Amino acid sequence: MKALQLFGDRDLRLGEVEPPPPPGPGEVQIRVRAVGLNHIDVWGFRGMAFARRKLPVVVGAEASGEIASVGQGVSALVPGQRVVMYGAMTCGRCRACREGRDNLCEEVGGIMGFHLDGFSREFVNMPARLVLPVPDGVSFEDAACAPIAYGTVQHMLFDNARLEPGESILVHAGGSGIGTAAIRMAKAIGCTVFTTVGDDAKADRARGLGADHVINYRSERFEGEVRRLTKRRGVDVVFEHVGAGTWNGSLLCLKRGGRLVTCGSTSGVSTSMNLMQLFQQQYRITGSFGCRMANITDSLAKMAGGLTPVLDEVLPIADFARGLEKLESRRVFGKVIATL
Ligand SMILES: [Zn+2]
Repeated sequence: MKALQLFGDRDLRLGEVEPPPPPGPGEVQIRVRAVGLNHIDVWGFRGMAFARRKLPVVVGAEASGEIASVGQGVSALVPGQRVVMYGAMTCGRCRACREGRDNLCEEVGGIMGFHLDGFSREFVNMPARLVLPVPDGVSFEDAACAPIAYGTVQHMLFDNARLEPGESILVHAGGSGIGTAAIRMAKAIGCTVFTTVGDDAKADRARGLGADHVINYRSERFEGEVRRLTKRRGVDVVFEHVGAGTWNGSLLCLKRGGRLVTCGSTSGVSTSMNLMQLFQQQYRITGSFGCRMANITDSLAKMAGGLTPVLDEVLPIADFARGLEKLESRRVFGKVIATL
């Protein structure tokens, strides 16, 4: 079968590998249809943490597909059913797993597509407990955005930042895969959305998604604009994933008692911050990584209800590297999906 493997820094090769054996007890075999590209793939592509990873590794950390066959004891999933997969090999037994806090599993065996072989291959065997059904009417391409992009945003906004209807939120990089999802999810519950973009074409598209205030961070200081537009009060929530380049500006955008939630550090991993500002302003800062399986189910339900992802491009699996280069250079508006 076909598989796309990473052999080293920027060395992706589409080749033939042995197909998996029939699914074992409690497993299903999935025919993969669409793979969502994410920044975690860019980290891998750039060679991050190679020392701790096996190579070559099949890339692709979020995907959709259909059940090809089921192993012994699997009754909840049937051949032909459309599904998405949870891409972290959780133990299913620890307290966090039992309580549905899957992304805090104490015995996690690695992330597929990064530490372990991922989804950019025709067939994959998975424990049935990590496979979730896709509702009717949601395409493979859209569903492929649920396990990471939508799931992460759902987890950040509603589990971590506890965003409420009517609140105000600053969404950084409104043209990114998660930025577009955050704008749409926040607007869907009636929030006032501020967002930052890097060019005027993206500004128009962000307004088209419903963003109320769009700031071009290349021509204006975003923190000054947010403070001016909120009459110096600030916003309730900041959705961060840019990192060092925006961190202190993001804190300046928060109102007293405001919440900042972050899942990325594209512009740099280290920064300094004013601790007096942190405690006097009573900020709440939460790190977020991945999501719970329930967040994926909620995301798919939102898609079925019409809150569909913005797709920048759907490309063949052979063009995966070109897709990663687009993400890396920020020349995207929405998600890049590879099909196979
Ligand atoms: Zn666990």
